[in-house]
Amino acid sequence: MPPVFRFAPSPNGYLHLGHALSVLLNAKLAAAAGGRLLLRIEDIDEARCKPEFEAAIYEDLAWLGVAWEEPVRRQSDHLAEYRAALAKLDAMGLVYPAFESRSEIARIVAEREAASGQPWPRDPDGGIRYPELGKNVPAEERCRLIDAGAPYALRLDMTAALARTGPLDWNEAGETVEADAAPWGDIILARKDTPNSYHLSVVVDDALQGVTDVVRGRDLLPSTAAHRVLQSLLGLPAPRYHHHRLILDAEKRKLSKSTAATGLRELRARGASPAQIRSAVGLD
Ligand code: GLU
Repeated sequence: MPPVFRFAPSPNGYLHLGHALSVLLNAKLAAAAGGRLLLRIEDIDEARCKPEFEAAIYEDLAWLGVAWEEPVRRQSDHLAEYRAALAKLDAMGLVYPAFESRSEIARIVAEREAASGQPWPRDPDGGIRYPELGKNVPAEERCRLIDAGAPYALRLDMTAALARTGPLDWNEAGETVEADAAPWGDIILARKDTPNSYHLSVVVDDALQGVTDVVRGRDLLPSTAAHRVLQSLLGLPAPRYHHHRLILDAEKRKLSKSTAATGLRELRARGASPAQIRSAVGLD
């Protein structure tokens, strides 16, 4: 079986040089391995994803000279698969509803920090690690809140999940890396109205699409520990991973989709050729 690579952008803005590096590296490694390259549109965030950005992804990739297989998988077409994976985790007793809003969590954590004088732990992305408030809410109270229409997030009980999986690792460009998911805490798997989250849908999709090689930016390296936990719980195979360098702006920040100067459309409009883009991302 030929290896399967994928490029999985979110249509919440225009592609930039960072995406160019990612997709061109995927295409290069796939070609070198005699593999396939899939394109997946990660459009679960309904508020931010727009059809015009999806159309622009196809246009910009075709201009860059990237060929991908049809049909393209769009996450919004596969909610039933994510729901089924969530139900499986729930049946293992690993999922609980958490009713606090983001600002309530921030307020509660700020109070704890003020009372203890100690900083509350952050997750690997720098966000507040969820203080597990919903974990001990009695079943009747959970039912009452849900029946009353309260918004909630469904979270993974990470401590229980890790007790079940035991130690995990992954293959990072040929090296074995230990997967330490504990710092993520109780990650969100779904919300009241959306049966999925980035972490859940990415592992379900990679498995359903038979992806053998995940090539993506280093900013997603810490997430891989959480992905390994979900793969292990759901009985899904672990792909090989290769987290590549990021393209940074003049201030050494990660590129943003809202900065026109490094956007592929903007560069094209200013006369750049696909060959110049390849060279700009160091892939001559
Ligand atoms: N959709 C994610 C992004 O645009 C990439 C997910 C992945 O490659 O696993 O950042």
